[in-house]
Amino acid sequence: MPDEMRLDENSRVILDPQPPDHRHPQAIQACPLCDTEGIRGGFPCHHTDHAAAAKRGKAACIAQLKAKRTPTDTTQPETHPQ
Ligand SMILES: [Zn+2]
Repeated sequence: MPDEMRLDENSRVILDPQPPDHRHPQAIQACPLCDTEGIRGGFPCHHTDHAAAAKRGKAACIAQLKAKRTPTDTTQPETHPQ
């Protein structure tokens, strides 16, 4: 199972034109994520664990949010007196 995504010259993900059949017996047997019918959580399994990529993305988002809340940032929210 490839963990790396193919990217084009603009760093966009290149999707496979024809995703693999989720019911392929060898893919189902090799995949620890889905049941014997190729179903995971009620949906067809793509037999790819995206948990690591999701974890990296979440960490990157949190890092960006923390960077915006530095102690040197003294801007106050605007108030609108009536
Ligand atoms: Zn699967």
